[in-house]
Amino acid sequence: MHYTSTRDASVRVTAAQAISAGISAEGGLFVPTQLPTVTPADLQAWAALPYAARATAVLSRFLTDFTAEETAACCKAAYGERFDTPAVAPLRTMGDGRYILELWHGPTCAFKDMALQILPHLMRVSISKTAPNQKIVILVATSGDTGKAALEGFKDAPGTEILVFYPQDGVSDMQRLQMVTQEGDNVHVCAIKGNFDDAQAGVKSLFTDPAVLAALQAKGMHFSSANSINWGRLVPQIVYYISAYCDLLASNDIQMGDAVNIVVPTGNFGNILAAYYAREMGLPVGKLICASNRNRVLTDFFESGTYDCNRPFYTTTSPSMDILISSNLERLLYHLSGNDAVEIARLMESLKKDKKYTVSPQVRQAMDELFAAGCADDSVVAQTIRRTFEDTGYLCDTHTAVAVAVQEDYRARTGDNTPTIIASTANPHKFAPAILDALGAADSADAYAMSQELEEKTGCCVPAPLRALRDKAIRFTDVCEKDKAGMQAAVNRLLQLDGI
Ligand SMILES: *Cc1c(COP(=O)(O)O)cnc(C)c1O
Repeated sequence: MHYTSTRDASVRVTAAQAISAGISAEGGLFVPTQLPTVTPADLQAWAALPYAARATAVLSRFLTDFTAEETAACCKAAYGERFDTPAVAPLRTMGDGRYILELWHGPTCAFKDMALQILPHLMRVSISKTAPNQKIVILVATSGDTGKAALEGFKDAPGTEILVFYPQDGVSDMQRLQMVTQEGDNVHVCAIKGNFDDAQAGVKSLFTDPAVLAALQAKGMHFSSANSINWGRLVPQIVYYISAYCDLLASNDIQMGDAVNIVVPTGNFGNILAAYYAREMGLPVGKLICASNRNRVLTDFFESGTYDCNRPFYTTTSPSMDILISSNLERLLYHLSGNDAVEIARLMESLKKDKKYTVSPQVRQAMDELFAAGCADDSVVAQTIRRTFEDTGYLCDTHTAVAVAVQEDYRARTGDNTPTIIASTANPHKFAPAILDALGAADSADAYAMSQELEEKTGCCVPAPLRALRDKAIRFTDVCEKDKAGMQAAVNRLLQLDGI
């Protein structure tokens, strides 16, 4: 199995090369040239397996240059005791055809752990095949959750340094505390005076800057990415949609072949793209429902066929979705355009130059068939958290509530009663102030007191890793300018790379 670039059809690399490079040299994203399939017999067999074994089965079809032992060892190391439930990604039934897929039982309490607990292992194996003596510098742009999950995954991983950029005023208190207290000898954290899109653009341009790359190379180092532009982030995310289907089979909630809808609260389009891949592989999925917050650039795109980020950027109660440039949409458009790298290069050039593009009627039609989209602003999110808690006793975080609200709206609008999996992406305690506010109980104390209050009010316990933060020292206070020069200076300073 090989991977190519969304912007250059002549690229052919192995999984190990795609994972260790992170992004293709001309700026495109790696995509499989052909997808493996999932058959009913596979699903039947996997329904009887624990999560790590399901992951091994799925990943081994993508990582064909890894040995079976290597893939199994990565999955076993990732999906074990660092998750607080043996199910790893448990599916909770709401009793009305809706199922909440909880993806936040890992060490940082957000769904990013599902991929970032395994990525360092995949990276280690990949590097051993592609660049055995190089030091890997992981550069991360985060809207809040990726940063912490990547730090936790890569801390003290041999042969790696990790550097995370987060928007200074764009993350929750708890998210910031998680990052600035990070332990480990190879970790660096820096705030930028800008938003997530600035951080992501800066990281991407550092990745592809020939001068920076040459200087790094001279020091025996090379960059890689822990953002969902890295194929190694996406492929582990395909697993939990397949796993959720297996759980529904095992509990007899559905019969083999029954379609399910999947709703995903979306920012960078990574998580929902993984659901799209699961569907393309043969998982019986009806609609993929893309849920946005007030930054509704994706909703408008699915409605109009024009992606346009000439619009205000809003800070919302679901900060991990405060994104205007959804990187992974590039991969979807590549596939829907019939693998047309020339067309994708053109669209991405237009995005860079005019901050917008319009897709062809053919792509538009494919989008309509596969996807539905909707958005929910902060007030709808607050009402949804409160109503869902009062009606069902289930407490959702602000991101999950975006998905719940969009799903309810979709069902009311279309009458589509297909069983539905809703991706739940964070533990409510990461966003306690907004959730307390939704429940009508906010006070003005610090993040820890808020979390304690949320526990007392709802019975939803503060997770141990968040409780433990209070006793940790703040290690990182760096701030840099949002432009490439500012970020480059921070890289030089933090990694002590004089002369770049
Ligand atoms: C990252 C994140 C999202 C958005 O996921 P994408 O893959 O970027 O679309 C949603 N919710 C939470 C809690 C997140 O951390």
